[in-house]
Parts: sequence; structure tokens; C-alpha cells
Amino acid sequence: MKSVYYFGDREADGAAEMKNLLGGKGANLAEMTNLGIPVPPGLTITTEVCTYYYDNSNNFPDDLENQVKDAIGKIESVMGKAFGDPKHPLLLSVRSGARMSMPGMMETVLNVGLTSKTIPGLIEKTNNPRFVYDAYRRLIMMYSDVVMEKAAGLEPKEGLGIRHQLETILDDYKTKNGYKSDIDLSGDDWQKVANDFKIRIKDVLGSEFPDDHYEQLWGGIKAVFQSWNGKRAISYRKIENIPEEWGTAVNVQAMVFGNTGDQSATGVAFTRNPATGQNNFYGEWLQNAQGEDVVAGIRTPQPLNQSTKTEESKHLESLEEFLPDVYNKLDLIRQKLEQHYNDMQDIEFTIEEGRLWMLQTRTGKRTGPAAIKMAVDMVDEKMISKKDAIMRVTPDQIDELLHPKLHIEDEEKTTILARGLPAGPGGGVGQVVFSADDAEKWHKDGKSIILVREETSPEDVHGMHVSEAILTAKGGMTSHAALVARGWGKCCIVGCASLNIDFVKKEMTVDNQTVKEGDWISMNGSKGTIYLGKIKLEPADPESNSSYKKLMSWSDEFRTLKIRTNADSPEDAQQAIEFGAQGIGLCRTEHMFFDPTRIIEMRKMILAEDSSKRREAVMNLLPFQREDFKGILKAMEGMPVTIRLLDPPLHEFITLDKSQVEELADELGVSINKVNNRINSLHELNPMLGHRGCRLGVAYPEITEMQARAIFEASAELTKSGISVMPEVMIPLVGTATEFDHQEMLVRDVANSVINETGVQFDYLVGTMIELPRACLTANEIAQKAEFFSFGTNDLTQTTYGFSRDDIGGFLPDYLDKNILSHDPFQSLDISGVGQLVSLAVNKGKEVKKDLKIGICGEHGGDPNSIHFCYQNGLDYVSCSPFRVPIARFSAAQAALNN
Ligand code: PEP
Ligand code: MG
Repeated sequence: MKSVYYFGDREADGAAEMKNLLGGKGANLAEMTNLGIPVPPGLTITTEVCTYYYDNSNNFPDDLENQVKDAIGKIESVMGKAFGDPKHPLLLSVRSGARMSMPGMMETVLNVGLTSKTIPGLIEKTNNPRFVYDAYRRLIMMYSDVVMEKAAGLEPKEGLGIRHQLETILDDYKTKNGYKSDIDLSGDDWQKVANDFKIRIKDVLGSEFPDDHYEQLWGGIKAVFQSWNGKRAISYRKIENIPEEWGTAVNVQAMVFGNTGDQSATGVAFTRNPATGQNNFYGEWLQNAQGEDVVAGIRTPQPLNQSTKTEESKHLESLEEFLPDVYNKLDLIRQKLEQHYNDMQDIEFTIEEGRLWMLQTRTGKRTGPAAIKMAVDMVDEKMISKKDAIMRVTPDQIDELLHPKLHIEDEEKTTILARGLPAGPGGGVGQVVFSADDAEKWHKDGKSIILVREETSPEDVHGMHVSEAILTAKGGMTSHAALVARGWGKCCIVGCASLNIDFVKKEMTVDNQTVKEGDWISMNGSKGTIYLGKIKLEPADPESNSSYKKLMSWSDEFRTLKIRTNADSPEDAQQAIEFGAQGIGLCRTEHMFFDPTRIIEMRKMILAEDSSKRREAVMNLLPFQREDFKGILKAMEGMPVTIRLLDPPLHEFITLDKSQVEELADELGVSINKVNNRINSLHELNPMLGHRGCRLGVAYPEITEMQARAIFEASAELTKSGISVMPEVMIPLVGTATEFDHQEMLVRDVANSVINETGVQFDYLVGTMIELPRACLTANEIAQKAEFFSFGTNDLTQTTYGFSRDDIGGFLPDYLDKNILSHDPFQSLDISGVGQLVSLAVNKGKEVKKDLKIGICGEHGGDPNSIHFCYQNGLDYVSCSPFRVPIARFSAAQAALNN
């Protein structure tokens, strides 16, 4: 088995398309090498070895050692140094690299190969003992933390981890010697610190820090594989749905140093602005530093170039100004990479003594607005096709654009509490908490929270995920918090240096203002401003975004599924049309009965003693209903409007208090007792499975007749005044064809009467909801008469699982936690169960009527995965809430293009 892939000096065993085997990082290092870009030579141990390692009780394949040694031989000859060599020692880095980037979730060990044998040689060669001992203490710190503690499965209590203990040694050393920052330490100082580190490690962990270069290397490699199953990685995989069996690759690479002096530097950059999508080279750099310093947020990075500078950073020297030649080389590489990958790249580089090395390229994470802008710009720049653009943007990124922002005027009126870097756009309002665990707890209690940290680490991801927004005191635009938040499209501000956080008291102070745990703050993640208190959040304004509009119009070119909306008022209908809806898929009529002036008639109807009184009461509702339907049909101007007849259980209308009972008795001229008796007789133990849906229309045909009359009289009036209409009357909760037939006949009789009475001809359909398993199983019988089906997947999920829609909250968290369910089936369609019933009903329905019109109007109609399923099963349309319409249009295009 080939387990090791070499890359170096313009030649690589691997290539970009081998991500599954080499991981994203390894595949791209190989690709850059093949492109002639300067990459320090190295080797990638495949993800197959990771799987092997876990399948074979943490052992490696037999020949791995030889393959690694062979590749190291090649690295040595390119670098003109040898691993473990006392005179010209080669140092190596060991890094993880999964198929999908998992920022900071797995381990890294740098400077491997520094031992008592190689240190003197390196000092002689570099003439820089400070640099060598600084590198050595970094190795010791990382190695003891990653290999000797984490990979060994030790789980010290908070604050007692070895890394923390070593950091304390360093802090004490600085205090004792009056040093302010790491820069003040000399070579001698670092040597002493390194010795103290080693003594503490022996004390705490019980074994010596290894002094053999190969022992260090294999320790590092094992630790990276172990970190695939570390806590952080597992929780990140869960959130991002990354399968466990993918495994990680390990990259071992020759070290290059950004911290050997003034002509050395390190940086992170994006080939376009990841926050806005602007086609500007965008990044940060640090002089005389190692890569980890940029991401860790320990020092404040400098802007890469003019276009990266902001008000806050305009006084800092850019790389463009400081090392123009190197910057120009980097800019050429930027262009080469974009042209090659045809996508925005996130790159890491190191400059060692004025020589530029590329350490990484990967497709960069971006905000939703940036993703949309870049995709559309790249079509205009002829880099990609329209199809590529659509497939490249995710529905979640579209969603981000549709997300709220702080109300502009309210924001202007509020004084700014603090400022930081705008790492993740949009608005966020919530109550402050100071730890990821608290964030999780408060969120579970239904609170909106903002997580405030000094800086975040991968240990915080669970809390970050549930927060409305994230605020950190340290870190730059490429810090952990910024990267993770951007990936999730969350409002985030980093590097807010004026925050003084007291984690013990659970409060923070800014100047002399104190913000305690639970206090409300508001954040503008696009500007980096933070405010005390709650500022109104405003809905997003996608219509002013031209890239978004272009992308959406392309989506409409490719999609075949129609998108309708669920709306029960002319205002909602109007909103949905603006979002691009092509009809109403579900107009629920129940709320129309709850209006105070109407409900009394409804109650009279329910309590009436004979059918003539009942009819009288119901018919009093007719003028109201006719106006309701006129409004909606008119707003939709000839687009189809599916109106569902009354659905909810009767008792919902007669849940009355004492005074309401008295009032009703008075109205009806009957005794209070009589009213109470009637109410009691209507009590149901399982109302959701009780007297609701078409069962109401069967028992009280007057209701069906009145609603049908209201729909058709509205249609006749509008038609007469020149407005076209397309009503579709939908019978709810049908389980047998006979139920449908009974209701359909009533509806058609009314239609014929209205046509005769008014002399106006109009089109209409009569169809049904499919929301019971029995309806799916007998769809061929129902389709004999029904002109359309609309899947009510809310009830269909409820009745298929036997999970009450209203009570699932009581046990769903356990089901998700214990992996009994992978997702909430009321949110995203249960394809393997409920989906089978849907497919069956589609097939059975179409057996009878080839062109039966079929849609979906349950909540799933706005869920991207469910939309893909609907497309694959030949549905004509999906219907969702107005604000989901753009996502549905876009997902429908992706579904069509996926095919
Ligand atoms: C459904 O059951 O999926 C549906 C759309 O109807 P409701 O949610 O009103 O029961
Ligand atoms: Mg329903």
C-alpha cells in the first residue's frame, strides 16, 4: 500500500483532486508544488493510514516507517540538510489535514528535530541562539501538550493542563525579570525557560521530553491521528456533518521560519476579501513571527496591503510597503492560484530571510454576501459558468443575506460601548455570557446569548454555535473566532481590546462601564461596533444587492420546480411575490375565524341545536370570508391560490372562560348549563387525531358550503371586474377516497350554483392534502377524483412516526444527543420513512392521473434537503413561508443542476 506521498521542488506524487486520500492540505501542497510555487518539501501520510490505525488498535502498517524515511531522504536532498544531523539539521513540522478543513480542531507540532545533538549545529549555522532556543521552547510546549498529554489521553482539570502550567512559568519568568513581552527575552533566557519547562514536564507528566528526533517525529504523527478522535474534532464533525470514517492525513514538512529576524515574517491572506467578496488581495502579516502567532491573536497583525487597511490599522506598515519585492511575488502567486483553482483561496505564507514560501492554500471560507458576490463576479470575469456559480453558493449563505441587521437609526442614536474588528457581518442582540458551557446552558433555557471571550479556541465551538453573536477581546480577522464565525455566517467582532473581562466575577468593564452576565448587548458585526442594551433587529434587504439578484435570476433559469408560499393574508402574499413566489400553496383559513367579530358566529354554529340554526350562524361568516379570499386572490393576480378548508379541532373555538360562556349563553338565549354541557361533550382526549380536517366538513357540511361559496363568489366578482383568478380548493386530512368524494361533491355543487347565479365562468380545481399514511397507501383511489395533491408533511410526519408535533420537544433533544435521530424530522423530511410514503403516493396518484398536479406545503417545503427530495420525486412545486422563498428557489436550481 502506498501510504506516503512526497512533494518538493516542483514535483509531487499527489495532486489537488486527491483530497480524499491526502486531505485538503496535502492535496493542495502537492498541487502548488506541481504549479512551480515555492512550497517547503514534505510528505503526506494518507487518510487510509488513519483508518488503518484505528482499525488495528492504534498500530501503523508495517512498511510505513520505511516509506516515511525514503521521503525524508528526498526532503533532505532538496533542503541540503539532514534530519537529526548535528551540523545541518533539518527541522520538520507535523500537521493534520482532513478532507474538509477543520480549523484548529486537530493538532500540530512544529520544530520537530531539535535535540541536544542538533541545537549547537543550528546555533552555529544561524548565529542566532535566541531564535534556536525560542524554537526549542515552542517545540517543548506544543509537544508536551499535544503528544504527551492530549494524545496520551490525560485530561487534567481546567487550569492544570501542561500548556497552561508552562505558560505560567513563562509569565513568572517575565515578571521576575521585568520583561513586558516575549521580544524582550534573550537566547539565554529562552534556554533557561526551556530547561524549566522540561523539569516541570517530568514532574507533572512523569516522563522526559524526548531528545531523539525520530521519537519526536513519530510522537507527533501519532498525536495527529489521535486528535482525529479528540473531543473538539468530534464535536466539530457533528456540527458540520463530517463522517467519522474519513480520517485525517498527516503532513510532515521541512520547517521554514518567519521568526529569524527583521527580514522574516509570516502571514495569512485571502485572494479576495472574505467578508465582502471584493476582488482585493486581503490579509494580515507579522514581522519576525511564526504562523501560530497570527492565528492565536497574541500579537495584533499588520495589514497586508493598502486595500486591507482600515481606520484602525491605517498607521501600521503593510507588507506591500515593507517588503515590496516579496509582496509582488506573493501577489503573482495569488493570481496564479485563483486562475488555477477558479475560486477564492485562503493562503498561508512564511518569509524566511526575505525568501517567500507558501505553506498552504485552500478554498477560503467566506460570508454569505461575499460568496454570492464572488460567484457572480467570477462568472462576469469568465472564470466559471453560471452553473458553477449556483453550485458554489450554499442555501445557508443565501440565508445569511436574508438575515437581520441592527436598525440603522436606533443604532446611530446609541452610544458605542466598544469597537473591534468586523469579523462576521449582520446584527446580533443577546444576553452576555462568558463561557461556552454557560452559552450552551442559557441557550437550552431558550435565551438569546452573546458569547464573550478573551479569544476563542476550538474548545469553545459548542458554545459559539448556539450564540447569536461572538465577541472577543483579542485576535485579528483571521483568528479562530473570526474564521469559525464566518464559516457559520454568524455576527462576530474580534480584537476588541478595550474589554476587560473578569471571568471569576462574570463581568466585563469598558472604561468605567460594567457589563454583567445576563446584561443585554447589541453588535454590528459589519462595522465592529458594540452597544449596551437591546437595539431593534431589522430584516435584511436582499433586493438592494445586485449580485444576489443576478444569482437568483440565474437560479430561476435552471430550476424546474415551482415555488409557492404559505400565506393567509394579502400582505403575506404580497411579500412572497416580492421574494419570487409563483402562487400560494397553502392558505390556512382557520385564523380567519378567530377574529373577535367572527368567532361568536362560529361558536353559535358549533353550539347550534339543529342544522337550520347552524346554517344561519355559518352563513353570517360568508361576507367576511368572501372579502378574505378576494384580497388574496387579487394580490396573486391569476397565480394559483390553494385555499384549504377549515382544519383545526372544533374545541379550539370553544375554549372559553366563565364570562365568555355567560356571554355566549346570552347571545344564544340558552342556559349557562346548556352551553357548558355542550362544551364538555365536545372535549377530546386526542384532538389532533380527533374531530378536525375534513371530518368537520363531513359532520357540518354547512362549513364546507360556506367556505366554497365565499371562494367562488370572490372568484366570480374578481373575474367580472377583469382580474384573473385561479383558486384551488383543498380538502384537509383526507384518509379515504370516500371522505374526499363527499367533500368534493359539496364544493362542485356550490361552484355550479355560483356560476349559474352570477353567469360568470371561472376555472378552479378541487384537490386534497396528503397528510395521513392511509392517504398515501390509497392515493390511487383518491386521485380518481382529486385534481391535485399537496403533501402536508407536518401531519404526515406526525402520523408516520406517531410523534406529536406539539410534544416532540420533550424528547427530541435526547434523541439527537443519543444519535437515535440524526435531525428533527419536522424540520427536514425523514427521507427513508416519510419519504417512502411520499414516493408511493406520487406513484399511485400518477398511475391514475398522469398529469396530477403535486406539491408540498408542510414546513419541509423550505428545507433544502427536502426540496432536493421533492425534485427527485417529480413534484411540481414546493410551498414555504415567504422568507424561505429565496432559499427554495435557489435550492430548486441546485437540485436541477445536481441531476
Ligand atoms: C401539514 O400538516 O403539513 C400542513 C401543512 O398542515 P398544518 O400544518 O396546518 O396541519
Ligand atoms: Mg396538516
